[in-house]
Amino acid sequence: MSTLIIENAYIAPVVGDEIPHGHLVIEGGRIRSLGAGPAPTVVGAQRLSATGCLVTPGLVNTHHHLYQWATQGLFQDATLFEWLTGLYRIWARMDADVVYGAATAALSWLALTGCTTSSDHHYLFPKGRGDLFAAEVRAAQEVGLRFHPCRGSMDRGRSDGGLPPDEVVENRDDILASTAELIDTYHDPSFDSMLRVAVAPCSPFSVTEGLMLDAAALARTKGVRLHTHLAETLDEEQHCREQMGCSPVEYMAKLGWLGDDVWFAHAVHLHDADIRRFAETGTGTAHCPSSNARLGAGIARVSELLAAGAPVGLGVDGAASSELTSLAGEMRQAMLFQRAVHGPTALTARQALELGTLGGARNLGRQHEIGSLEPGKLADIAVWRVDGFRAAVEDPVCALVFGPTPPLARLLVGGRTVVENDELRTLPHDMVGQAGVLARQRLLRQQSR
Ligand SMILES: [Zn+2]
Repeated sequence: MSTLIIENAYIAPVVGDEIPHGHLVIEGGRIRSLGAGPAPTVVGAQRLSATGCLVTPGLVNTHHHLYQWATQGLFQDATLFEWLTGLYRIWARMDADVVYGAATAALSWLALTGCTTSSDHHYLFPKGRGDLFAAEVRAAQEVGLRFHPCRGSMDRGRSDGGLPPDEVVENRDDILASTAELIDTYHDPSFDSMLRVAVAPCSPFSVTEGLMLDAAALARTKGVRLHTHLAETLDEEQHCREQMGCSPVEYMAKLGWLGDDVWFAHAVHLHDADIRRFAETGTGTAHCPSSNARLGAGIARVSELLAAGAPVGLGVDGAASSELTSLAGEMRQAMLFQRAVHGPTALTARQALELGTLGGARNLGRQHEIGSLEPGKLADIAVWRVDGFRAAVEDPVCALVFGPTPPLARLLVGGRTVVENDELRTLPHDMVGQAGVLARQRLLRQQSR
């Protein structure tokens, strides 16, 4: 097995002390050692001199809708419910080719901005339009990211009091059978797994209580994780109070949907008791600050969740509500938003980096495998260029989090180079952006038929 040595770098391992001039030794897809000063001599090792670079764990994105890459820039001034109502009918026309192109572009964008692992939440499966799940899995394999696709679903259309039109929802039995089959086909629980499946009914306002209960039972039988949207807007709070007679988090508690195998997207509108419950049960939050701001949803209580000891990671959310967003950018937004509300000590650069790495790993149940640079962990590593203009910032971690996303000298997933000198190495660099444009054109063409 070949050995790669990264040396002369500023290393921010997230767990343990930072190393201003250090090295990392990577072997067999894992981190063998790291330390100060020059690397030891290893016969036959490749060496990467990372002078002027900051080395961090690869970023972990814990909420996305890859297909939305094909519908960016629409309904620019809408609330969540207005935006969804406008987009459901467009999304209903997607097929496997649209999903493949959108996922290829979206995942490449994540890689080029420092992500080594991404989840996806796909919850529309129009009939007769090909194998959409297989299409996104193929894209992730080709781009080379670790992938956690969530089999999403909706079974509560407008005629049942839900938000989505009846034409985009599925039957509960079909959803459960399909989800079980996808877990059996794709889910790999191994330490260095490149693909794990989660069970993810879409939201309280698009899913029946029965499906929420059955989904939780299925996930726990299969030993996989649970994910959904929760408490994103005040409209949702009002919907839950009117239809379920309680708040969104109370509803989840009633359904057995709190626990260390659950992570929620957004969780913006939490009551004090909800924060305590998340901390007590180890329930995770995927904080998506850009999307929440774009839709005017509010600012999640991240610093209070962290103070209570609840797990928090980051998500870019679908690109239809956070156009061209990078996860590194979300570290910055998370930090700035908390400071705007609570003052300049609300979230430090190091805490923001932890949200984007180890916090995300915890949301995905992979904190022992990824999310920090420690011997024995997987070699998922971002090597950021913080030289040039950025060298004027005294602290490299500050340059990464306070400033715009830096270029990448290298991105490794399990020791394999996915990005080198800001170019994708796994697919033709020029093709991946175009794949997203073609996906958009194809979807809109189908729309007008
Ligand atoms: Zn979402």
